Amino acid sequence: MLQLLKTHFGYGSFRPLQQDIIQHILLKKDALVLMPTGGGKSICYQLPAIMMDGTAIVVSPLISLMKDQVESLQANGIAARAMNSANNETENLMLRRECQQGKVKLLYISPERLLLEMNFLLKEMKISLFAIDEAHCISQWGHDFRPEYTQLKNIREQFPEVPIVALTATADKITRHDIIKQLELKEPRIFISSFDRPNLSLDVKRGFQKKEKTKAILEFIYKHPGECGIIYCMSRDNTEKVADLLLRHGIKTTVYHAGLSSSARDKAQNDFINDRVQVVCATIAFGMGIDKSNVRWIIHYNMPKSIESFYQEIGRAGRDGMKSDTLLFYSLGDLVMLSKFALDSGQQEINLEKLNRMQQYAESDICRRRILLNYFGETMEHDCGNCDVCRNPPERFDGTIIVQKALSAIMRTNQQIGTRMLVAILRGNYFQELTEKGYDKLKTFGAGRDIPQADWMDYLLQMLNMGYFEVAYNENNHLKVTPSGAKVLYGQEKAMLVVIKREEKAPATKGRKKKQEKEEQPMFNIATLSEEGLDKELFEVLRLLRLRLAEQQAIPPYIVLTDKTLHLLATQRPTTIEDFGTISGIGEYKKEKYGKDFVDAINNFLNR
Ligand code: ADP
Ligand code: ZN
Repeated sequence: MLQLLKTHFGYGSFRPLQQDIIQHILLKKDALVLMPTGGGKSICYQLPAIMMDGTAIVVSPLISLMKDQVESLQANGIAARAMNSANNETENLMLRRECQQGKVKLLYISPERLLLEMNFLLKEMKISLFAIDEAHCISQWGHDFRPEYTQLKNIREQFPEVPIVALTATADKITRHDIIKQLELKEPRIFISSFDRPNLSLDVKRGFQKKEKTKAILEFIYKHPGECGIIYCMSRDNTEKVADLLLRHGIKTTVYHAGLSSSARDKAQNDFINDRVQVVCATIAFGMGIDKSNVRWIIHYNMPKSIESFYQEIGRAGRDGMKSDTLLFYSLGDLVMLSKFALDSGQQEINLEKLNRMQQYAESDICRRRILLNYFGETMEHDCGNCDVCRNPPERFDGTIIVQKALSAIMRTNQQIGTRMLVAILRGNYFQELTEKGYDKLKTFGAGRDIPQADWMDYLLQMLNMGYFEVAYNENNHLKVTPSGAKVLYGQEKAMLVVIKREEKAPATKGRKKKQEKEEQPMFNIATLSEEGLDKELFEVLRLLRLRLAEQQAIPPYIVLTDKTLHLLATQRPTTIEDFGTISGIGEYKKEKYGKDFVDAINNFLNR
């Protein structure tokens, strides 16, 4: 098995559970596989498919996912095909013949098509196994229910002897149970791998206003030159605005949201997959069909509504196992908006609770990864060292006076103001509505002038989280002091606030200079992938070669070779085709196909 893994996929060892799962399937037994995105689910059924007699039928919900998988398999010289509405009749005719002749090892098929063919094509071929990808789509409890999936229960009835393996990256206990029941899996073994994604760094920035976010985003992208990433925004409007901003700074950016035509969405997705743009600004509509393995970072422009959504979205980074960065912005405005959504939703209680857990994550002063894993029912014994809390633990100070100033201002307006007015009063800003109401005459007017507006927003968010005041969502978001706030206000208790640490700001000129450099700079620079001995220049040469080879074949660059493999080539610099073949990610097929090109490039580089 290990030999086959190397020959076909170029990997030298299995990931945890892969080998067990494969052995189980080879015994023709049913299985449910739960692994995080990027965990390596595909190989669990692809290797058995290669080893077993006949064709493996793989059910997949989206054409784009099938396309990606089929291209990846073909890039490894494996006979994989897809049958879906994207094919024309001639293609399908040929495909049917190939299937009947047993020439196809893996047939990817949409659930609708599977049903149509259940009593026809599928009965005319030898089927080795059924793999149900994204199996959570079968359950109404999951977040991605697809009615077509419920019909898959016919498989068991029609093919009682063929093993079924269901795979998913997201399934709580109810969904898990539902998958087993609906697919009528026979005494399935359930394989659950750790959901930890140690290669994803976790960072949260609290209380940033628009301007600060803009600055932070630009700095972040300058630190990831040429590396692809996604910026998730709450609204369509925001995706457009952020994209405009990046474009104005010379960053190749596109937009994706449900308000665009389907051709515009396809174009955005393809440009991203093929490294023609660096950044997508998107709503949560983006991502389901994306298997791109070299997404190097994710930014959340707004806070997501739950930890599930958050984890799924950041999970799109670093599927190739390379270090990738994630950044979450979290503001009072988000919280107000999301609470409103939750209150207006059909399931108030659940949604508020989910939001609450998300908020706790954002607010945490313990290792963030521990919170995430704990949420998914895993316990972690140690701090991760790869989140902002681990790297830079929050410090607290006695902020009683600050809190008192704010709460006092709220009280003096008879609790009839929102956060914006509150900050204006504290900072002593004049504007019409404020003076009309006579708030400039309050004793607290200007009492917090020494604290910048952005810091006030941060402190207010902290105060809200500590329960010193509440937001009355049904009363224009006016602020109401709580009993525990009153205790601080009247000096009965102290309030410990977190010290605000703003990152050192890069001088503006530096940013501008970088931008100019960037324009001549090709996409992808290894800066943040770098480890010792890595030759950035060689990586760049190999990256361009990869891009050229990908364009020639009209497939995405990461399918030619992953970032990880490219990185290994740049550090190990194999100079013979034999040595090239030993690099992780290069199987026999890729060795034959690309060996000469890459080895020549490396030799030229070394001898220049
Ligand atoms: P999933 O479907 O679980 O999201 P994939 O099957 O796409 O994940 O695998 C994620 C990445 O990990 C792919 O680039 C895949 O080639 C790689 N991978 C899978 N198994 C191994 C392994 N045993 N060794 C090294 N890389 C692997
Ligand atoms: Zn940590």
